[in-house]
Amino acid sequence: MRSYETGGSASLPAVLALAPLAAPWLERGLSELEVRTLLTAGLPPTVHSPRALLADRLARKLPAPRPRRDAAAPAASLAECGECRDPLPRGQQSGICATCAGAGGRSVASPAVDEALVADRVASLRAVLRGGPTPAAA
Ligand SMILES: [Zn+2]
Repeated sequence: MRSYETGGSASLPAVLALAPLAAPWLERGLSELEVRTLLTAGLPPTVHSPRALLADRLARKLPAPRPRRDAAAPAASLAECGECRDPLPRGQQSGICATCAGAGGRSVASPAVDEALVADRVASLRAVLRGGPTPAAA
């Protein structure tokens, strides 16, 4: 780290000159660790001008803006299902929900209905096997 000291420590005017370059980093909500990692990764063995290197990295390595996560801002309203009007999952802007698409949820049929249907079918089949008319009552 001795090489950082060549050229003297950064003067106040030098530091202030970097402030406009550093401001976007702060505005983007990067953590100190993220900034340090981005600015110091892959440093050359000898740094002749720390200020020039820092200015260059501040300009070149600025990450893309992140989507704002402002707690005070209202959450983006969710799109509605085209059939049941339930809110669609975040990220789905149109169409129908998973329930309406038959991907589970509503597919639980009433067991009573199925039982009655099965009993009716069984009675009909028995009647056919016996060769007699369908029984009116059990
Ligand atoms: Zn739906």
